[in-house]
Amino acid sequence: MKDRPINRPSLDELVKGIDQSNRMMLSRAITIIESKLASDQELGAQLLDEIIPKTGKSIRIGITGVPGVGKSTFIEAFGTYLTTIGKKVTVLTIDPSSTMTKGSILGDKTRMNELSKNPNAFIRPSPSGSSLGGVAQKTRETILLCEAAGYDVIIVETVGVGQSETAVKGMVDFFLLLMLAGGGDELQGIKRGIMEMADALVINKAEGDNIKPSKTAKKDYQNALHLLPAHAGDWTVPVGLCSALEKTGIEEVWNTVMDYQKVTTENGYFQSNRQQQNLKWMHEVIKFQLEQSFYQDPKKKELVRNLEERVAAGELSVRHAVQKLFT
Ligand code: GDP
Repeated sequence: MKDRPINRPSLDELVKGIDQSNRMMLSRAITIIESKLASDQELGAQLLDEIIPKTGKSIRIGITGVPGVGKSTFIEAFGTYLTTIGKKVTVLTIDPSSTMTKGSILGDKTRMNELSKNPNAFIRPSPSGSSLGGVAQKTRETILLCEAAGYDVIIVETVGVGQSETAVKGMVDFFLLLMLAGGGDELQGIKRGIMEMADALVINKAEGDNIKPSKTAKKDYQNALHLLPAHAGDWTVPVGLCSALEKTGIEEVWNTVMDYQKVTTENGYFQSNRQQQNLKWMHEVIKFQLEQSFYQDPKKKELVRNLEERVAAGELSVRHAVQKLFT
């Protein structure tokens, strides 16, 4: 491996480090997974092969909600609570803005100050990438690494604005939607499609004067949920209340996750959902690889350029042009 950066650990060191739950080694392994270098990609693939038998034992929780709803405050409280009951927690983020700009609105470590200092918590900001698909792919692999390193709750946070929810839904067991009282769905920018993905809704900031409106909102959301298609896992989507700031209702959220895991494990949905997610992931990677190898072929590139001109000039139909590329 000629182009391997000199400071890269060996496969053995990585496997051993992850096995020992060494955070520095886990971080370095994630960096390798995220890297575009060919040698890193090879090392990353070998590493994943080695650790795959040790994966899958965590519960993977997606958390979303519009900016300002209190996601990071909630994760700080929830994650800290989980560590007090003996869990090791990872917080990953998928930030759609990281694919557009270098900066990101979510992946800022300082947002979870207390948790980031907790020895039983591991926080990793969103990887940057040219596409949401690429970012999601790296996050899925990071989940596996964290599981192999012994983390039993994996939280994947994203912002409630659309596409990234679908990506996160496709990699977690349980999807939590944080909401606020007061202000209809439209006001909160939450689309019906995101509500349909949720396994639980929790209304945050339910404290003090806000308790009454929160209880009203809870009823409204319960009614709204009745109008949505039934959950595929034979699960009734609950609506809870919490205050991330005052740390109330946090344990109840965890109990809901545990109930969900029990119900859906018993009826088989939990396992079948993971299987479906894996198969879908595999096909996404196949498509990605096909696209890459197609556009990287210099002959095809040249031909595409030619055909583009003819299509633009109206000499050739798109269907005919594409046919020429595959014959
Ligand atoms: P995010 O953008 O969804 O990650 O939201 P943040 O966690 O950054 O919270 C946005 C603002 O809401 C911050 O000023 C928080 O202190 C505040 N906040 C978060 N949770 C609560 C809560 O339970 N009650 C109250 N009153 N404020 C909260």
